[in-house]
Amino acid sequence: MGYGSRKEVKALIKKKRITVNDKIITKSDIQIDPDQVQIKCDDSIISYKKFIYIMLNKPAGYLSATEDHHQKTVLDLIKKQDKILHPFPVGRLDKDTEGLLLLTNDGQLAHDLLSPKKHVDKKYIAMLAHNISDHDVENFAAGIMLEDGYVTMPSQLRLIKDNTVEIIITEGKYHQIKRMFEAVGNKVTYLKRVAMGDLILDSELKLGKYRELTENELRSLQ
Ligand code: URA
Repeated sequence: MGYGSRKEVKALIKKKRITVNDKIITKSDIQIDPDQVQIKCDDSIISYKKFIYIMLNKPAGYLSATEDHHQKTVLDLIKKQDKILHPFPVGRLDKDTEGLLLLTNDGQLAHDLLSPKKHVDKKYIAMLAHNISDHDVENFAAGIMLEDGYVTMPSQLRLIKDNTVEIIITEGKYHQIKRMFEAVGNKVTYLKRVAMGDLILDSELKLGKYRELTENELRSLQ
């Protein structure tokens, strides 16, 4: 939990800085159930957790990856102490896309959210080079044939302004929204994800900022 390597923690125990239920321990090979006991280091409680769930408001310019030799990744936005449990992004947003990105080390949850079978709704705000027509709304609802022949599942378009829409898709094909608009002769000039399933981007989170999910938010995803 960020207190050091095995060797360093053994040294802390030797120095009598660790207590279990307020009793100093001197051996590092005792068996404990972290849910049943209180462990402290120098009187501060060490809370054990297995998983971390982070809601990030991703800015443009960052790759949805854990590392890259040349470019900044979303992990560069996460503080060292929040990287101890090795969170990774759940799915990808393009480098120039902003908005809701979940990072976790819970592989099962990530798998379930990304599973094509689950059809988790993803809601975006898209700004476009050209105005939207009623015809576009119908076409998107019916499914759009992309340049490679793939026909997308139905998606909902809701007009916010003539050239700005809210779009909900249930798949996650590569550059999907950009390719859908290209297929109807339009072009995405700005894209931001605002929700994934029941998880809604916290409007208080500035670009590049993050926080852990609340219990309720986590439950809504499970
Ligand atoms: N669709 C896109 O084209 N880009 C994204 O980042 C997400 C969905």
